[in-house]
Amino acid sequence: MDFMNDFETKVRNTVKDYKLATKKDKIIVACSGGKDSTVVLYLLKKFGYNVEGLIIDLLIGKWSDDNLENAKKFCKEQKIKLNIVNIRKEFGCSICHIRMGIQSKKKLNNCMICGVIKRWLLNKKSREQGGTKLVTGHNLDDEAETLLMNLFTGNPELMLGFGPKRNCPNKKFVHRIKPLFFCTNDEIRKYSKAKKFPVLYDPCPCSHGAFRSDAREFIAELEKKEPGTKEKLVRNFLKILPKLQEQIKLGVTGRRSEGAKKENLKTEKLETRQHCAVCKEPTMNELCKRCELIKILGLARAK
Ligand code: SF4
Ligand SMILES: [Zn+2]
Repeated sequence: MDFMNDFETKVRNTVKDYKLATKKDKIIVACSGGKDSTVVLYLLKKFGYNVEGLIIDLLIGKWSDDNLENAKKFCKEQKIKLNIVNIRKEFGCSICHIRMGIQSKKKLNNCMICGVIKRWLLNKKSREQGGTKLVTGHNLDDEAETLLMNLFTGNPELMLGFGPKRNCPNKKFVHRIKPLFFCTNDEIRKYSKAKKFPVLYDPCPCSHGAFRSDAREFIAELEKKEPGTKEKLVRNFLKILPKLQEQIKLGVTGRRSEGAKKENLKTEKLETRQHCAVCKEPTMNELCKRCELIKILGLARAK
């Protein structure tokens, strides 16, 4: 088999092995206009799933304009419905203005702010469109970086949700799936280029300075010395994850240390997500992360 077939088989097997979706699902693919979301949208349509695209126009100048045009062009060619959400219509200004306003009051990095806003919008809009699954284009490189970052920052809550799918009993939470979970950045780029998809390969101009770039460089160094490290990191963590989840739930070795009790509480909270006091979207705290940011911004128009 050649590379193209191998790649498609890998994605098909991830969907099948992890039971990510069925033909009855209405799948909403979070599009950015970039290679990952374009490739996953293309493949899910090719595999016969009921898919629609959803793009958030962040209004990051020419970069956003070009990505939006590319996504429209691709969806038109592939006869896929594309839903467009304009950040100005939702928040009254571009992501850059939201970001600058928040950063004038609190030191938070660009992607952290943008990620919170995007996740909030994607969940809400995909649910409103009747989506039963929300696909993101996260790949193996993204996951290895996230894993390391969560380890470095000691963020076990987030590590417990690691994997190609994220379910939640809260009915307002659209199940998130990642069919490209085991595909590397290089493989996706190669596939996208071979297919001549209309995508930008330039990174977002606002992504600089993030802790993620450090994690990326660190993994790239390891990968150079020991090829396959990235994949081993992700696969090995997936192997120990069920035991980790179980131990945190029970309290390590039965001696419920303070730390274990704390983690246990967090896990219980995760499983019984409630709704944000302001916007009524799913959250495990009183306010969702989006509304916490809006509070910092001092905007009174949080809905
Ligand atoms: S790279 Fe960061 S700032 Fe740019 S779109 Fe992604 S999350 Fe937003
Ligand atoms: Zn909220």
